[in-house]
Amino acid sequence: MGTRTLFDKVWTAHEVVPETADTPAVLYIDLHLIHEVTSPQAFSVLKSLDLRVRRPDKTLATMDHSTPTVTEQVFGKIPIKVDAAAKQVRQLESNAAEFGVELFDMLDARRGIVHVISPELGSTQPGMTIVCGDSHTSTHGAFGALAFGIGTTEVGHVFATQCLLQRKPKTFAVNIEGELRPGVTAKDLILHIIGRIGVSGGTGHVLEYRGSTIRALSMDERMTICNMSIEAGARAGMIAPDETTFEYLKDKPRAPQGAEWDAAVTRWRALCTDPGARFDASVDIDASTLEPMITYGTNPGMVMPLGGAIPQVSGNAVYDQALGYMGFHGGEVMLGKPIDVVFIGSCTNGRLEDLQAAASILKGRKVAPGVKLLIVPGSQQVKRDAENLGLAQIFKDAGADWRESGCSMCLGMNGDTVGAGQYSVSTSNRNFEGRQGVGARTLLVSPMTAAATAVRGKIADPRELL
Ligand code: SF4
Repeated sequence: MGTRTLFDKVWTAHEVVPETADTPAVLYIDLHLIHEVTSPQAFSVLKSLDLRVRRPDKTLATMDHSTPTVTEQVFGKIPIKVDAAAKQVRQLESNAAEFGVELFDMLDARRGIVHVISPELGSTQPGMTIVCGDSHTSTHGAFGALAFGIGTTEVGHVFATQCLLQRKPKTFAVNIEGELRPGVTAKDLILHIIGRIGVSGGTGHVLEYRGSTIRALSMDERMTICNMSIEAGARAGMIAPDETTFEYLKDKPRAPQGAEWDAAVTRWRALCTDPGARFDASVDIDASTLEPMITYGTNPGMVMPLGGAIPQVSGNAVYDQALGYMGFHGGEVMLGKPIDVVFIGSCTNGRLEDLQAAASILKGRKVAPGVKLLIVPGSQQVKRDAENLGLAQIFKDAGADWRESGCSMCLGMNGDTVGAGQYSVSTSNRNFEGRQGVGARTLLVSPMTAAATAVRGKIADPRELL
């Protein structure tokens, strides 16, 4: 069979029918994650064709994108304020019941952002194929799974067949060596990578993140890296499973147990790129020289070191439009710019370690007057952990707004939005025009930079507050 990449191994193991020049491959899907926003239309198609969900046991539903984060609305003491969200929640409840799909509803202690709950349950496992009607499904690649977002029509295909028609992507090695300096995080690393290869740099490829830097990262950090693969245009991002992966998964409720665990780990150890295997593209990154990063434009590739100046570019309409929208100009320094809102959360940076990083800056400090700091845990489990560890109290003492879990201000579907013209420093993954609200201006950063900025009331370097 020759030498193979991690991606090749997982792809081949799931190929029901290989692709031909005229037809895509038929790929078997191990886990289908669904949520309230991209599933209703797919369920309607099933109903119209009188079809059932083929493998409800391999389908898991949660509510996250449009759900409220205000406690009274979540637990039904007052109605959900956004009508469209209330409707989507009710619809998923009825669809899940009708089709026998397991649902973590609003009251379920396991509810949260789809890409946070599946790993914390142990449902995400090495070597799996995982899909969801959400771009950031790439997150699960941190476990050595092949995981990618699909469209609503494809959600219907997976419901009906547990398979997907796919063209085989190419492979792209992202080789990263060196130790990250204090105050420089996985978020800064992935922002740097996107800046380096560009928002289309990974198009048609699956990225494999490799090297000593990646091996030294925790699972929460690896998930931050893989999460944003899609922002480099890639189909997916993957990291070979290792002892860190196995340690994370061991004893998770849905991970294999006992003898099955031992057999699974033996299988998972083979999930690595063979020495000498060929990639279609590659890039080498020296992580030891990186700085905290911040975006200045309206895509995640418009990114720069926090202490630098906005690049000066002439004759580029995209650049002009982006800077016009952001109210910036080339050559401006970002540090010290006043901001209005800080958001810490999302499937990129809403996990426990992200909240611990933010708390390390916020402890004993106050949010600057006039700044709104919204902190939204990625899941109800993360919320409980943060409360048990005293992080929530640190946030509240600092003057932050501490909420129930969900996507929240990452995309503002639930009413948690940034006002027109306001500057939002955010740990989420997309800074597109209007992403956090009509006219909102988003600057993507790490949780540490977000926390330091909230304290200072202007864009700040977290290393000054370590
Ligand atoms: S947090 Fe944002 S990116 Fe992640 S699943 Fe929710 S909406 Fe998508």
